[in-house]
Amino acid sequence: MTSLFDRTFPVVLSGPSGSGKTTVIRELLSRRSDLRFSVSATTREARPGERSGVHYVFLEREDFERRCEHGEMLEWADVHGKLYGTPRENLERAKSDGVHLLLDVDVQGARIIRRAVPEAVTIFLLPPSGAWLSRLRSRGSETGPALERRLRTAEAELMAAEEFEYSIVNDELTEAVRRVESILDGEESRTARVGRELSQLVSALENEISAARSEAAK
Ligand code: ADP
Ligand code: 5GP
Repeated sequence: MTSLFDRTFPVVLSGPSGSGKTTVIRELLSRRSDLRFSVSATTREARPGERSGVHYVFLEREDFERRCEHGEMLEWADVHGKLYGTPRENLERAKSDGVHLLLDVDVQGARIIRRAVPEAVTIFLLPPSGAWLSRLRSRGSETGPALERRLRTAEAELMAAEEFEYSIVNDELTEAVRRVESILDGEESRTARVGRELSQLVSALENEISAARSEAAK
């Protein structure tokens, strides 16, 4: 069943490196057509298999900074020494296309989005203790100092967990994805989001009641 009301909202997913954000997002996108991934811009190198325009838009630092100066980024942050940012147009396009924008951003980005777009839903993804470091190492995308740097950032990110509206432990993937979906379904029905549509529906139902009463009184 689709939502009764069609207002969309950004969904911000944050969590330390290796918590499974990319994996959970991939699964969500394959299950729901009402979500669109926000392709960020970054100055980091592409990992094997990553394509510009699909996973990230890979930019030179100078180009990235120029776009920030021109106000093209909704938010941006320095994460592990590289720049990452959300192009403003991602949100505008998602809104006009009637889909929820799904953002994978760090905790700094989440703070900015929460202030700029109060209707955003914020979710923090945690790895289960025990499996986390082996998952991060098995991904194999960072080693040595780059891995060490991510672990340092992760420590700071974990301290921000309580700033988020929802927290999910990504122990079993299917269960983590199910929980995100439940949040989305719940948020779609939140009375505070629906405003005018709700009062229109209530008046239509009231009219139906009056019509039924007049019919019954005949
Ligand atoms: P992030 O995007 O948060 O840095 P990834 O999605 O790249 O994290 O996940 C890190 C590693 O953990 C990947 O190798 C991924 O396949 C693995 N992983 C993610 N979620 C799970 C899970 N629920 N169970 C087992 N492995 C997982
Ligand atoms: P990775 O290099 O592993 O893809 O991402 C590193 C970190 O950058 C993750 O915490 C991810 O959430 C964050 N990130 C990705 N895109 C953005 C963005 O557009 N803005 C911000 N602030 N962080 C981002």
